[in-house]
Formats: sequence, structure tokens, C-alpha cells
Amino acid sequence: MDYEWIRSRRRTLALQMKPDGTLVVRTPLLTSRRQVEAFLREHRDWILRQQEKLAAQPRGEQLSPEELAELKKRARRVFLARTAYFAPLVGVKAGRISIRSQRTKWGSCSARGNLNFNCLLVLAPAEVLDYVVVHELCHLLEMNHSRRFWAEVARVLPDYAASRKWLKQNGNALMARLP
Ligand SMILES: [Zn+2]
Repeated sequence: MDYEWIRSRRRTLALQMKPDGTLVVRTPLLTSRRQVEAFLREHRDWILRQQEKLAAQPRGEQLSPEELAELKKRARRVFLARTAYFAPLVGVKAGRISIRSQRTKWGSCSARGNLNFNCLLVLAPAEVLDYVVVHELCHLLEMNHSRRFWAEVARVLPDYAASRKWLKQNGNALMARLP
């Protein structure tokens, strides 16, 4: 999970979701990464709810060009990390990763193994983003949507159907946030 970590002279750990979707963790000075990660795991539901709320914001809440630029930067970090994580699980080697902002696609891949991802996905719940990553990685094995393809997706992400449903229900609203 991608987050900003701010240490200060405070006693407790706290979470904040900024309007641009950045997750901020505030901690006392002597806090370990392990403690932060455990804290994030404990509050996973809260984080997902906040992300869903952000993603479901009505039309009109369009991203400014600055916000979009920021989002693309963040998306690059997240997609590099998630692709590196999932590629060995799928059993493929990913090529170059590009971040796009398009109103038509969440992800795509080329025969050479290069992957494109839509930056808006960092505003979706984390498991939805993971699903798109796994979907594109599985296309490096199966360049179609055959039974074999979906079996491969399910092997890595047994709950992928919920993420597909989320995209069907919330995808348009999310796409509408592009300037
Ligand atoms: Zn596909």
C-alpha cells in the first residue's frame, strides 16, 4: 500500500485520507515500519471505504491538471510495485510500464509484454487496482479472454469477480474525473 509517513512528537498513530487520495500515516518519532504496516492492516476496511468514497465522487469533481499530474506520478510508483509483486505469481516477466489517462481503458498490454495502466485506478480500492494488474499480466500468458485466461486470473486472485463488478458499477464515475 502506498502512503506518506509523517513522524512527529505525538503519542498515537493516526490515518488521514487527503482529497487527492493520498493516504497519510502520522506516528510518534519511534515507530517502526512494521508497526506502521500493522496499523494499516488493522485499518484496511476504513482505508477501502475512504478510497471508495473518493472514487464514487459525483461528476463535476474533476481533477485539475495539477492533481492529474500528481496522480500519474503516484500511479507510476504504485503500478511498478504491484506489477513487480504479481509478475512472479502469474509467472511472467513484465516489460515497460506506462501510465495513461484515458477515458476508455483501465489497462492494456502489447505482445512484447509492455503494459499500460490508467492512472485513475489509484483512486479505486486497492484490490481493484490489483485486479487490473493481474488481468494484464495474465494476458502475457493468454492474449484473449478465454476460459484458460480467467482460470489464470482466479488462480492468483480468487476474489477477482468483486473487483470486476466494482469497475462496472463505479468505472464511469471514475473515468468522468479526468479533465
Ligand atoms: Zn483483457
